[in-house]
Amino acid sequence: MIITMKKNAPEQEIQNLVQSIEDKGVKVTMIQGANYNVFGIVGDTTVVDDRLITANPYVDNVKRIAAPYKKANRLFHPLDSVIDVDGVKVGGNEKIVIIGGPCSVEGEESTMQIAKEVKEAGAMMLRGGAYKPRTSPYSFQGMGIEGLKCLYKAKLAYNMPIVSELMSENKVDEFEEYVDLIQVGARNMQNFDLLKALGKCSKPILLKRGLSNTMEEWIMAAEYIMAGGNENVIMCERGIRTFETYTRNTLDLSVIPIIKSKTHLPIVIDPSHATGKRDLVESMALAAIAAGADGLMLEVHENPECAWSDGAQTITPAALKTLIEKGRKIANVIGREM
Ligand code: PEP
Ligand code: MN
Repeated sequence: MIITMKKNAPEQEIQNLVQSIEDKGVKVTMIQGANYNVFGIVGDTTVVDDRLITANPYVDNVKRIAAPYKKANRLFHPLDSVIDVDGVKVGGNEKIVIIGGPCSVEGEESTMQIAKEVKEAGAMMLRGGAYKPRTSPYSFQGMGIEGLKCLYKAKLAYNMPIVSELMSENKVDEFEEYVDLIQVGARNMQNFDLLKALGKCSKPILLKRGLSNTMEEWIMAAEYIMAGGNENVIMCERGIRTFETYTRNTLDLSVIPIIKSKTHLPIVIDPSHATGKRDLVESMALAAIAAGADGLMLEVHENPECAWSDGAQTITPAALKTLIEKGRKIANVIGREM
């Protein structure tokens, strides 16, 4: 961290500031310039509050050199992390993983049917929401634990790990029992109590980017889970809020190379929530593969028109099969398998 202080800063003010920073356990060295005094701060600067320093009237500028995250930082963990989701590996040079299934679990029979069809199409994991974060309290809220049990039966029948969203820390035990990859939804990305609870959990986490969060805030959310002791985090981009209204969200594919260079964590793309439109899903999925995504999460239903939620962005198992066939060709071009 580099702090530039104004030349007119009284000696006592400089000493006070240096002392308050050194109290955090870091080392401060000063370079006296003609117009400014420059301080270099070395050590663990994650504990130093740069905004508080910026607020000091004698400080001209504060610049962070080191990223505020450690566990997720590629610098301290140069190799790609490969996350094992009940036998399916995600990240590194492993196969690009396809996660398919309905937005909401709709009962045992339909879950079994969709599981069978997504598996036949080439998916390796089954998704389905049992607890749904709906914008309206009058919309279907999910089947709850009964939904998780439907997924679990499909897992046993088709040997596919299951992915489902957890909304509250008081349901962690339930998810530990039934779910293989616990999803943190976009709306809960900065639910810090939930993130802390997941830091103590034994299952891997699929961490979706918040609707209006920066990449650094998203990585810091992963850092919360990792700092708590659970280093098995997979990042998931699902589109962000922009001024554009044609699509439900704006898919930010630039996060793929950035997350991969800044962190060692795998990244999965969700083109369903990112676009909100089923006819855009395939092209965005293929683009994500080309850009280096480690996986795709897609909403799939045998009859999207009748899906209990998010039908507009849901594709059929037949469309999933075509998408995977095309995707495999792109994966080959970039030296990966799918
Ligand atoms: C979902 O995956 O069903 C979901 C609600 O996603 P998001 O949190 O990205 O909106
Ligand atoms: Mn959905």
